[in-house]
Amino acid sequence: MEDQFIELLIDLYRSAVRLGPGGNSETEQAMILAGLDRSRPLKIADIGCGTGASTILLAQKLDAEITAVDFYPEFLEELREKAEKNGVSERITALHCSMDVLPFADEQFDVIWSEGAVYNMGFEAGISAWNRFLKPGGKLAVSEITWLTAVRPQEIESYWQQEYPQIDTASAKFRVLEQNGYSPIGYFVLPVSCWNENYYRPLQDRFTSFLADHSNSSQAKEVIEAQEQEIALYQQYSSYYSYGFYAAKKVCSSPGV
Ligand code: SAH
Repeated sequence: MEDQFIELLIDLYRSAVRLGPGGNSETEQAMILAGLDRSRPLKIADIGCGTGASTILLAQKLDAEITAVDFYPEFLEELREKAEKNGVSERITALHCSMDVLPFADEQFDVIWSEGAVYNMGFEAGISAWNRFLKPGGKLAVSEITWLTAVRPQEIESYWQQEYPQIDTASAKFRVLEQNGYSPIGYFVLPVSCWNENYYRPLQDRFTSFLADHSNSSQAKEVIEAQEQEIALYQQYSSYYSYGFYAAKKVCSSPGV
């Protein structure tokens, strides 16, 4: 993507609580599914943390030391401010790094968390590369765009094949986990509220001021048009796809790494 386009996207998103579909109760639900509680101290990596929606909650709910990783320093700056306000900054280290070149040691973490972000590397590349950072028996909790049905209308099929060809059904995602050293624990589907109330609506509320801030430039309009297309498609086809939240346990190394 062009630099200017990325700068516009950062500006549109930086004030957002969630940079992708998700919700606090769903983050908590995933903690429970993965069997995480305060019974012991945990070392956690939150990869593609954005402005820290999940990071702050993990820090509040668990006895955790969290390394929060993102590619864009602007988002990490927001995260640092939020951590400060919530009194959890001592437990969070913000790391500016790309998720495909993480500087972590083997078996450094008890938990790898990633909401709405692994698609940047591709699901399989991400979960296989991150496997070695987990201790034996460590947990992976990752949300990933998922088909909810075996067949889909052509329009939405083509859109997602273009945007993210690795979109697939949950059964296929489980298989990828199994083939990369994980034993799946379970998954659940993010409800419509995680898309509309928590993600799209706050984003839409920002469209007018965003366009004004950028003097209605053609590039700013393009950014908004792409968002509007995605939102309209979701409203029409929400019964065919969502994010699945997957929890899995590391059972062995990933054979590919
Ligand atoms: N987990 C956050 C953000 C999800 S959006 C939330 O749920 O709100 C995806 C995030 O991945 C963005 O913050 C984006 O900056 C980050 N990202 C994109 N490419 C990345 C890369 N190569 N390495 C690390 N983070 C990346």
